[in-house]
Amino acid sequence: MNQYIKHMKRFFVDAKNILTGNMQITNRLKFTAIIFSIAMVHFFLTIIFGGLKILPLFFFNICSVIIYVSGFCLIRRDIYLPVYYITYLEIILHSFVATICLGWQYGFAQYIIAIVPVGYYICYTLDMKQHKMLIATVSAFVAVLSFLSCKMLSFIWQPLYLIENPVWEIALYIFNSICVFVFLIVFSLVFVFEIKITNNQLKHQNAVLEQLASTDPLTGLYNRRSMDIFLSQAMESSSSFTLIMCDIDDFKKINDTYGHDFGDVVLQGIAKIVTSQIREQGYVCRWGGEEILILINNASLESVYRISENIRRNVESQIFEYNAERVHCSLTLGIAAHNKKDTVEETITQADYNLYRGKRNGKNMVIL
Ligand code: GH3
Ligand code: MG
Ligand code: MG
Repeated sequence: MNQYIKHMKRFFVDAKNILTGNMQITNRLKFTAIIFSIAMVHFFLTIIFGGLKILPLFFFNICSVIIYVSGFCLIRRDIYLPVYYITYLEIILHSFVATICLGWQYGFAQYIIAIVPVGYYICYTLDMKQHKMLIATVSAFVAVLSFLSCKMLSFIWQPLYLIENPVWEIALYIFNSICVFVFLIVFSLVFVFEIKITNNQLKHQNAVLEQLASTDPLTGLYNRRSMDIFLSQAMESSSSFTLIMCDIDDFKKINDTYGHDFGDVVLQGIAKIVTSQIREQGYVCRWGGEEILILINNASLESVYRISENIRRNVESQIFEYNAERVHCSLTLGIAAHNKKDTVEETITQADYNLYRGKRNGKNMVIL
């Protein structure tokens, strides 16, 4: 009993995941559902035709059930296309045999209509490299021809069996119609959900690509391309902004002494310190090799200076360990507030110039 409850719970969780677009509907699941439902329909028809003693249809439906149950073996081995062809053929043949035995009015030919969209859907969702649309379209033509041929046949052919009770005619017609509509509705729903799932995946992939295109892989900071966008936005807006250009002091020496890989670790550590100080107040970008450019919107020069000093002090006190050795590093920062009449390039040059002054005056300082 416990296991049954668990199984039902799992089923509802999966159904919810599929409905909310968080779970993939696999080909195996899809084909199993199709084959199982068709096998069930044939199973009911076997009972009905057995009861009505319409032997050709009774035996045909027994064979159909056996064929569909054997189809599960192919599905388990991920062989789908033959299952699709067998299903197509079986449904068309069944419609002909039913028309020959009972005539047109029982609505067995309706199943042929239902397999047309299913054919397109299946061909589209299977990983078939070529002829996807061709196979579905040829199958659709065969379906149209078969449907019309059934109708023609009903004009020239006298049914082999006559069911006396007219209730059977309406009951079988309703049964067939309901099966066909349920098929079409379920497939339309599955199709919509698959589109939803694909859209969600695309959105996720776009976010990942956007992240890759806008950031520097080593430090995780924004790259120059992103900073150009932020700078243009800052120029277009009416509010003020300030730039801080930072450059690691004697970085060449660090690379030469401890190796390029350790230099990368230092660069990452300093990037982390800068971002932790800026947080949501602005944008931090890896402007060049070991140059970091910071853009801060709507802040007073005093507060920008304070932030810069904090960054400088934090870098100065940070210890990078190389084997057992403790390595210290420092950063020089040049600040430039944007002047409305200046271009963005002029403000960057100003920040660069202040940085250069800091380097000349002994490094490890903030120049405003
Ligand atoms: P200064 O104090 O004047 O800035 O001296 P410096 O040695 O830092 O001189 P400079 O700024 O010109 O040095 C840049 C060095 O940064 C040269 C280059 O090898 C190194 N570099 C640039 N990008 C990277 C990187 O991604 N990783 C590592 N490890 N080193 C880098
Ligand atoms: Mg440097
Ligand atoms: Mg440099």
